[in-house]
Amino acid sequence: MNANVAPDRTETATAAFLARPHQLLIGGKWVSAANGATIDVINPSTGKVFATVAAGGAGDIDAAVRAARRAFSSGSWAKLRAVERARLLYKLADAVEANAEEIAWLESLDGGNPVRSVRHVDIAMSIDSLRMSASLADKITGETPLSAPQGEGFAYFLREPIGVAGLITPWNAPFLMAVNKIGPALAVGCTVVHKPAELAPLTALRLGELICELGFPDGVVNIVTGLGPLAGQALADHPDVNKISFTGSTRVGKSILSAAAVNMKRVTLELGGKSPIIVFPDADLERTASSIGDEICFKTGQFCAAGTRLFVHQAVHDELVERMVSRLGAVKVGAGTSPGVQMGPIISEKQLERVLGYIAAGGADGAQLATGGKRIERDGYFVEPTLLIGARADMSVMRDEVFGPVLGVASFSDPRDLDQIAAMANDTQYGLAAKIWTTDLRSAHQLARKLQAGLITINGGGGDGRMPFGGFKQSGIGREGGREGALSFTEIKSVSMGY
Ligand code: NDP
Repeated sequence: MNANVAPDRTETATAAFLARPHQLLIGGKWVSAANGATIDVINPSTGKVFATVAAGGAGDIDAAVRAARRAFSSGSWAKLRAVERARLLYKLADAVEANAEEIAWLESLDGGNPVRSVRHVDIAMSIDSLRMSASLADKITGETPLSAPQGEGFAYFLREPIGVAGLITPWNAPFLMAVNKIGPALAVGCTVVHKPAELAPLTALRLGELICELGFPDGVVNIVTGLGPLAGQALADHPDVNKISFTGSTRVGKSILSAAAVNMKRVTLELGGKSPIIVFPDADLERTASSIGDEICFKTGQFCAAGTRLFVHQAVHDELVERMVSRLGAVKVGAGTSPGVQMGPIISEKQLERVLGYIAAGGADGAQLATGGKRIERDGYFVEPTLLIGARADMSVMRDEVFGPVLGVASFSDPRDLDQIAAMANDTQYGLAAKIWTTDLRSAHQLARKLQAGLITINGGGGDGRMPFGGFKQSGIGREGGREGALSFTEIKSVSMGY
């Protein structure tokens, strides 16, 4: 299948979705925002409005939370047999798979990423994620100690669904993020209110349509599109929400944490990153250069775990940079739905200005452009993939999350001084990921122990949805993914009894 060529069926299905009104899903019904407000949705590949969605406000969030609470308290979901919850989640995975091309096409229009990449990464991982959540539904259990407690008696602990979960997601991988939160929450028996990002809200609504078609009880999944400071904040503030699972910027993550204090909501935060890539002199340079090049372009660098600070041994610095420059120069940049495109636009004009600002600041601070650095003059929000060499730790481009296709490069001299290499890599407020390239596995695993990051890859090890995902330091709190992710939607209750 060539996912870059939309079959007629996909385009027709996308057009049919776009022709429908994009309302809020509350209590099993599609409704307009209470005040009738809407948000324009812009295709970042053209800069033009191509859809509008309802702009939910605090009143709509309150209605959605009440619907989720009713569904939770009624037991229509939490008390459903776990295998029944699993059956519906498997059906949802099948429905996503059956509509995968259409969802990928829609997400490409919405967020700008190449259709092929969305289909084979985001949507493929979403299908896996839903099946994994389904498989966990009947395996989340408490424990009973083998031996009796002091005296005569019996003790055990239960795991119960936490209640109503508020799920707030960003625009860079909207469908996958929605599914990665909705799946585990539903698997353990929670009901949810999902607030997608205003810049890419459409595929969450398509997911909502599939959920409605499959017979999930009303109110189990509620979806409220709207602005972050209004709808998002109202969800974070709501006193009847038991947990917030948030993915986005560290700045908003901190405000969620303060809002959660009001009623001690449980919180999982997946925040920003400034992940180091460490290349030793014995690394396979061809593989390393091609993988780093792909990583710079993946989601146009708008990817929380992207490697954005490269530390390369001085002996291979020039050769690696040369290989990456030649690779990046050949990248086909364009609209996500155009055939053969490898890198799409930045999500918005504002975000593009921000990225260009960081590139300019890097240059002003003394880094040199090895390639890229400029806006691509055409409709939409395009920038060249960019390498800045001679970067220093004190530069903003090496400290802040740029969220664009920009890599800062620095070098090191002693490959045996792992403490010094780790100190360079760990010199950041973030701790989401770290990537090591070497054929010396002893150094790789010793260094992995020293790095402060929630995800370490060695020689390009890929993502595995079964692994817990999350960050150290200001990259977040808690973990998503696999069993750990599902457990984060449960509360523990210990019970003991004397005979
Ligand atoms: P935000 O953190 O602002 O947005 C993430 C989500 O939170 C969106 O749904 C947003 O709504 C919502 N939100 C915004 N403000 C509030 C609030 N006060 N209370 C509750 N929810 C809120 O990220 P941005 O989209 O603005 O991106 C800015 C920067 O954040 C990027 O440049 C990047 O550095 C980082 N980022 C990191 C991501 C990651 O995965 N680590 C993902 C996305 C961004 P709305 O869309 O309406 O604003």
